[in-house]
Amino acid sequence: MPALGPSLAQLVDQRLRRRNTKSLLTYFGFVAAIVIVDSLGFQLLMWSAEGRSESFLTGIYWTLTTMSTLGLGDIVFVSTIGRLYTAFVLMTGVLLLLVVLPFAFIRFFYAPWLASRSIPANLSGHVIVAGHGELARPLIDQLELHGVPHFLVEPDPILAGQLEAEGIPVVARPLDEPRTYESLRISEAALVVLDGSDAENTASALQIRAAAPDVNIASVATAEHAADILNLAGVRRVLPLKRQLGQHLAARLNAGHAQTHVIGRCHTLQIAEIPVHMTPWVGLSVRELDLREKFGVNIVGIIEQAKFCPVTPSSVLSSQSVPVVIGTAEQIRSLDEFLVIYNVNYNPVIVIGGGVVGRSATRALRKRGVPVHVIDLGRHEADWGDGEPTKWIVGDAADRHVLTLAGIADAPGVLLTTNDDATNIYLALLCKHIADEVRLVSRVTHERNLSAVQNAGADVALSHTSIGVSSVFAALHQRELVVLGEGVELHEFALPERLVGKTLSDSAIAARTGLNVIAIKRSDGHVVDPGPDRIFENGDGLLMVGDRTKLQDFIDHFA
Ligand code: AMP
Repeated sequence: MPALGPSLAQLVDQRLRRRNTKSLLTYFGFVAAIVIVDSLGFQLLMWSAEGRSESFLTGIYWTLTTMSTLGLGDIVFVSTIGRLYTAFVLMTGVLLLLVVLPFAFIRFFYAPWLASRSIPANLSGHVIVAGHGELARPLIDQLELHGVPHFLVEPDPILAGQLEAEGIPVVARPLDEPRTYESLRISEAALVVLDGSDAENTASALQIRAAAPDVNIASVATAEHAADILNLAGVRRVLPLKRQLGQHLAARLNAGHAQTHVIGRCHTLQIAEIPVHMTPWVGLSVRELDLREKFGVNIVGIIEQAKFCPVTPSSVLSSQSVPVVIGTAEQIRSLDEFLVIYNVNYNPVIVIGGGVVGRSATRALRKRGVPVHVIDLGRHEADWGDGEPTKWIVGDAADRHVLTLAGIADAPGVLLTTNDDATNIYLALLCKHIADEVRLVSRVTHERNLSAVQNAGADVALSHTSIGVSSVFAALHQRELVVLGEGVELHEFALPERLVGKTLSDSAIAARTGLNVIAIKRSDGHVVDPGPDRIFENGDGLLMVGDRTKLQDFIDHFA
């Protein structure tokens, strides 16, 4: 029975292919007939109106140069009727060759070719990305880098052609047709990621469920209540990216007192960042800090001006440094107990932008009991529940007076969540200018603006697409989401053969690639602390933290 789906799909595909070939041949037959008739007309007019006898082959030559608008001018009519005929042939040429031909070529040849992409008969563990929203491109880049086989389904043949030309494996088929997914061996796929509108994703999820009841589906969700509908349609992992972004930004904002911010879980361990501003740790080196001895946690990197930097024992913490540590929940709690008396400031934090991201951040902060002042150009109606902001200020945050009214002088932190990177960059500079000690956490929409946001003074910058990419990889590796920072990833990689039997320090992974091994996942699922003398065993998985682009260096060196 399982063979029925694919064989039916192949049958329908064959019929479609035959129909397309027939349509294309009909078109070419029609063009050939027009060329012959026009050539005969040329011969007739030359003879009757201009008294010249031309061969049929000359007629074909004249017709083709005229229809294609080439018009070499070596054979021309001089009579009025002859010129009128030339204009008529020219117009049919424009219509048939310049307008209809590209359309027919794409519709009957290129699109079916893209739709009938052949995939290996034994392919499994691949990822299918359905739709081409904001997440698709960065996700495909990462899948490519990690060597995960993937296909993009894009219904628009023109866009599909452009993407194919850029090297993305595209299948130009409808998103809401089970055959689309059957032809991509859906039941063997590791994950399907839906990146269309909420309505498109819901329709696709239902069709995918019909084709493969057990496949793992993740879907981007935009509207506030879309998650429930997508769940009903069979999506297992809903990605409300903007709302998640708001929560992750809020988690990074200092409020009340110094504290750790848990930014993810890695199997049994927690990953947390610690803004050291106004703590006794400012000015100490990592060696002097000795968090491993005092609290049992390991520092895996330091965020400086929103950039994740590798750590060495001699790295010195400035007041803007944010060390990232990994440890058990108990160890992280003991760090919090130590930090509670530092950087005390119970004034309201300011959230600039009360859209989807800002509202989600506000709710998360209010849940922690943090007072929040929201500034927005207008007033948004929302179902706040118990997460209503303490104050809503209508105004442009680029106006100093509005920021002063919101209490920037005393605020422990400001969250920039407008939907325009240029505005966030401007606001970051303005906020630092008014209150240079304030902690700034910023949303960034386009990765290209990251360094500008960092240089403008943001302590943390995150985008919803990088959260989406991290969520998909968390789903692929069946672990929890860890959001380390823009452009920084938690990489999970099978131990390359040449590292078996070596210790972490022998391998010099950090020195050679800039990636920091934060844990080793054993084949029994157990996660172990990678001390420098820990010996790598066959079947180990490496959990490494570092810049997205560094994984290629690791692959080049070791894999
Ligand atoms: P969203 O993309 O849904 O999170 O919405 C972004 C929000 O930022 C919108 O509600 C805008 O009104 C708001 N916004 C944009 N520019 C400014 C600004 N200069 N001052 C205050 N709010 C702004």
